[in-house]
Amino acid sequence: MSQDSIAYVAIGSNIAPFRQITRCLDLLHGIPASGVCAESSWYRTRPWGIETQPDFINLVVGLRTRLSPLGLLRETQGIEVKLKRRRGPKNGPRTIDLDILLFDQLILKESHLQVPHPGLLLRDFMLTPLIEIAPDAVHPEHGLPVSQLAGEIRYRQIIDRSPPAAARDH
Ligand code: ATP
Ligand code: CA
Ligand code: CA
Repeated sequence: MSQDSIAYVAIGSNIAPFRQITRCLDLLHGIPASGVCAESSWYRTRPWGIETQPDFINLVVGLRTRLSPLGLLRETQGIEVKLKRRRGPKNGPRTIDLDILLFDQLILKESHLQVPHPGLLLRDFMLTPLIEIAPDAVHPEHGLPVSQLAGEIRYRQIIDRSPPAAARDH
């Protein structure tokens, strides 16, 4: 298990979000050579960018994986395809959006994959659920635990939250 990486993935949806995120979590549990090891609360958030659309549900999961960063991106993009994400306007409504926030201590600046995700510290709906499940995760560009970086948040969209699905009765 020592060669496992730890990745944190943000999930967002504002089209049938409870159903979509439940399906998304099932699909995340099925990613090869990986396992979901943490799930944050589900945060209801005001839409960001385009305000005239339904509220979002956002959360963050922790994954233990033996995939490469690109391998994980392929899997998360495969889940978006399975959940019928359509490319609409930037920041517009979506059935599902999966963003890789952190992958170990890697810093990648490829056009198709940037980690840490450039929005991580700016958006409360990414940073707050990450701090909830992994306060000691170090942001490789700042060299500080994410719990010490909440002062960087610029966009405060969170309205309220409910417990993780794993903690609820089904
Ligand atoms: P934002 O990234 O600002 O939240 P978005 O999620 O709406 O915007 P998308 O249309 O979902 O953007 O993704 C556009 C591209 O971003 C994807 O095709 C993907 O290759 C690239 N990308 C770069 N870094 C990442 C990352 N860390 N996680 C997921 N996708 C990424
Ligand atoms: Ca996104
Ligand atoms: Ca995305």
